[in-house]
Amino acid sequence: MKKVLVIAGSDTSGGAGIQADLKTYQEIGVYGMTALTTIVAQNPNNQWAHDVYPIDRETVQAQITTILDGVGVDIMKTGMLPTTEIIELAANTLDKYQLDAVVDPVLACKGQDEPLYPENAKALRELLVPKALITTPNLFEAGQLAQMSNITTVDEMKEAAQKIYDLGAKHVIVKGGSEVEGDQAVDVFYDGDQFELFEHDMIDTPFTHGAGCTFASAVTASIVKGHSPREAVQSAKQFITKAIEQSWQLNEYVGPVNQFANRK
Ligand code: ADP
Repeated sequence: MKKVLVIAGSDTSGGAGIQADLKTYQEIGVYGMTALTTIVAQNPNNQWAHDVYPIDRETVQAQITTILDGVGVDIMKTGMLPTTEIIELAANTLDKYQLDAVVDPVLACKGQDEPLYPENAKALRELLVPKALITTPNLFEAGQLAQMSNITTVDEMKEAAQKIYDLGAKHVIVKGGSEVEGDQAVDVFYDGDQFELFEHDMIDTPFTHGAGCTFASAVTASIVKGHSPREAVQSAKQFITKAIEQSWQLNEYVGPVNQFANRK
C-alpha cells in the first residue's frame, strides 16, 4: 500500500481540504494520513461565512512526527498552510525526510480573491514552491506566486507557469478552471521544456467545491502509484472532470465535487 502524508486544513462541510483529499485517495487506492493545520468552520447564521481556526506549530509538528517517524510515507502533499511558520515547517519536513511533494498553494477559500494572509504568498514562493515536485496553482494563486496581476488567458498562464518553474518547482500545472477566458476548462502544464494544455469542455455548474484539493490529490495518488507528473496530471484531469460532472448540492450555499463518480 502506497502512503501519503497530507499537511492541510479541515473543511468541516466535508467537500474540500483534508476531507476531499482522503476521499480521493480512497477512490484511487492509496493510504492517506493527515496533519491538520487549520480548521475551517462555516457559519450557517451568517451566509456560510468561513471562520478559520489555525492550529499551533507544535500540534502540527506532533502529527507530522507521528506519521513520518511512526510509519513513513511515499510522498507528501500540502494544502492550506495558515501561517508562515507552518509553511516553513512543511519545507523543513521535506528536507529532513527527503520527500517529494505535491504543493497545492492554497491562498484563499474558493470564491475569495484576497489571500487569507498576504505574507503566506511570499513564504510559499520562497520556501515551499522551490522544493515542489509539482505545484498546482489556480489562476489567483498563480498570479500571487508569479507576481502577475489578473491572469485570464492561456498565454498569461504560460508566462506564469514559466515564472513559477523558475522559482524551482520541477513541474507546474496552472489550472484555468472556470476562471479562464473561453468555453474550455484549460490547464497549462510546464516541465521546463515544453508547455502542454489539458482541456475539457467547461461544465456548467456552480457546484465545484473541493475541485482544487481533489485534483491535487489525484495528481499525488497517481504519482505515488508510479506515473510521471505529466501522466498524473492527465489522469487527474479525467478524475476531476467526472467528479465535477456528478457534483451535487449540499445545502443552499455549497455543492461538493463527487469523487465517487470515478467508481467503475
Ligand atoms: P481550485 O479549486 O483550486 O480553484 P480549479 O477549480 O481551478 O481549482 O481547478 C481544479 C480542476 O478542475 C482543474 O483541472 C480545472 O480545469 C477543473 N475545473 C474547474 N472548474 C471546472 C468546470 N466548471 N468545468 C470543467 N472543469 C473544471
